[in-house]
Amino acid sequence: MPTPKSKQWDGQFLLQSMSELFPIMRSITGPGVRESLQKLQAIVPLEICQVASGTAVLDWTVPDEWHFNEAWIEDDSGKRIIDSKSSNLHVINFSSPVDKTISREELLPHLHSIPERPNSIPYRTTYYADQWGFCLSDKQLQSLGPGPFRVRIDAIKKTGVLNYGELFIPGASQQEIFISTHTCHPQLANDNLSGMVLAAALAAHISETKPALSWRFVFVPGTIGAITWLAQNQEKVSAITGGMVLTGLGDSSAFNWKCTRAGNQWIDNLVQQVLIECAPEQHEILPFTPYGYDERQYCSPGFNLPIGRLSRAVHGTFPEYHTSDDNMEFVRPEKLDESLHILKKVADAINSDWVYRNLSPFAEPQLGRRGLYSALGANVDPGKFQMALLWVLNQSDGNHSLSVIAERSGMPIHELDEAAKQLVKHKLLEAVMHASDLQ
Ligand code: ZN
Repeated sequence: MPTPKSKQWDGQFLLQSMSELFPIMRSITGPGVRESLQKLQAIVPLEICQVASGTAVLDWTVPDEWHFNEAWIEDDSGKRIIDSKSSNLHVINFSSPVDKTISREELLPHLHSIPERPNSIPYRTTYYADQWGFCLSDKQLQSLGPGPFRVRIDAIKKTGVLNYGELFIPGASQQEIFISTHTCHPQLANDNLSGMVLAAALAAHISETKPALSWRFVFVPGTIGAITWLAQNQEKVSAITGGMVLTGLGDSSAFNWKCTRAGNQWIDNLVQQVLIECAPEQHEILPFTPYGYDERQYCSPGFNLPIGRLSRAVHGTFPEYHTSDDNMEFVRPEKLDESLHILKKVADAINSDWVYRNLSPFAEPQLGRRGLYSALGANVDPGKFQMALLWVLNQSDGNHSLSVIAERSGMPIHELDEAAKQLVKHKLLEAVMHASDLQ
């Protein structure tokens, strides 16, 4: 993949990157995840980490690697009626190998379709049970002949490693923003690939700035990858002051912020303020539930990290979810672009979310005398700027960050930030600490 500057990361580039990752047969372990992480390495300098199969990770064990070659079913005339060459979803991911001729009755329990979506192939996995099977459209299932059938899954499970990608971008503070996205789905676009490329794009953007906080990006296979990262990095989690799981960000639905376990953390309010500003009619705030993606692991009670999830369509609630219809046509470049815009706005808001102290707190300082009412150019609404000055002065008592003032005032964080900068310049305000230090 090409390595453009972050400003060249637009929806088209994100879509192009996704289409290069789309055909790779991924799973929770094995060459597909490695190849995908290597492709991402071409655009962001992430480190590919590995943990050996059999390693105990919290209550789990790192599984063997799954090496897949091909899977197909032939009818009694030798015609291939199902073939993984046409879709990776045709084989149940992590299937055990099989190579035999069986009757229709023996084959049927190994076949999975969705009767309500007769043209779609479902996505199924069998990571932790030694089974094999095929997924096919219900149309294909209904047209199955009398048999017998030759079934072949050419795959092996062998000792190896679990891979995840990690990228750390140091900031002025050691406090960390944690971004996690899963890397294990074999051929789905929105659920998985959109999160991977957007996390990479955000990392590229952050690395070209001087961030106030440090940022850590992890690209992990779902569930076992997050658990493995947590098990191997327990000393790092205390630095995490906020974070987001990113997935499902290329479809046309409104944005959804799923709150952290506590529900009222700094990051919850900050992301909400950005969504109110940038997608006012196009977002919803969802309460925490112990289901979903890897926020489940990060928000388990022992860790209880302030990590929420940003998505568009919510898993399990849209018909294309975990089917062959979550494909490259399901994601739109302009939607990826919008998602990237929101993520950059979140990063900007994090950078500017400081707690200030009013240095002239006894009655209002005389702003007109200092030329502050006309401090901004003609493009800024002077009435709004004046209100931003007054809100920042009034609330800056060393206990309220700009994102908290945004919530109270209904003004965007960046407008309050402009006002704060002018007030600092005129020695009416001083920065006390970053908002994350208030937690
Ligand atoms: Zn999924």
